[in-house]
Amino acid sequence: MMSTPILATPNGSKPEAIAERIRAAILEHRLAPGAKLTEAQLCEVFGVKRGPIRQALAQLATDRLVDLEPNRGAFVASPSLQEVHEVFEMRRIIELAVVEKICSGHGPRRLKTIGSMIGRERKAFETRDFSAWIRLSGEFHTELAALTGNTVLCDCLNGLVARSTLISALYESLGRSPCSFEDHEAILAALDAGKAKEAAALMSRHLQSVELKMLDRPARGAADLHEVFGARTGNSASP
Ligand SMILES: [Zn+2]
Repeated sequence: MMSTPILATPNGSKPEAIAERIRAAILEHRLAPGAKLTEAQLCEVFGVKRGPIRQALAQLATDRLVDLEPNRGAFVASPSLQEVHEVFEMRRIIELAVVEKICSGHGPRRLKTIGSMIGRERKAFETRDFSAWIRLSGEFHTELAALTGNTVLCDCLNGLVARSTLISALYESLGRSPCSFEDHEAILAALDAGKAKEAAALMSRHLQSVELKMLDRPARGAADLHEVFGARTGNSASP
């Protein structure tokens, strides 16, 4: 049986759009660390030739979400323990600076939008929409950073949060967010009250607990790429 390409539209076949779909699948834990990204299967799934697939994979490799191994192909990245520590060391530096900047007057009026985002995060958890829960819990951190208006800082943190989400799929159970929305609510309340020291302490403790949760048992998995991207299953064995 032939497979049906699901993204054969002109926009959907662009390398950027393909990269975005694969990135979303990784960040929503639909693709596990170490999963093989077979070019032939991706060509079928996205209804394109190898060129755009290779460009998309190269883009994701630059973001450290995909490993390209000579003669073996592309895999969802599997960050080492050392990398976990390095990512969180950098997150602590950047996110404590975010808290300080917000408390010193950068963007406190927009804290309401963060409040409604945490509300959606809680709702996603309660309705068992785990993909949305994982995505929204990362967005709490990146949207808070956006309030500082510093785009370089935001670029750095976006990359680190994406890598943290990937790490959480490796070191914690797939389909769970290592973030607690109750922690997020407490951080927001301290920011809203202008309590800089308390907000910084809460953020620091939150990041520490997220890092600790990730040192749990590793999860690895093969993936059926047709299933991950919503195409039919059936004739999808890897070559
Ligand atoms: Zn968090």
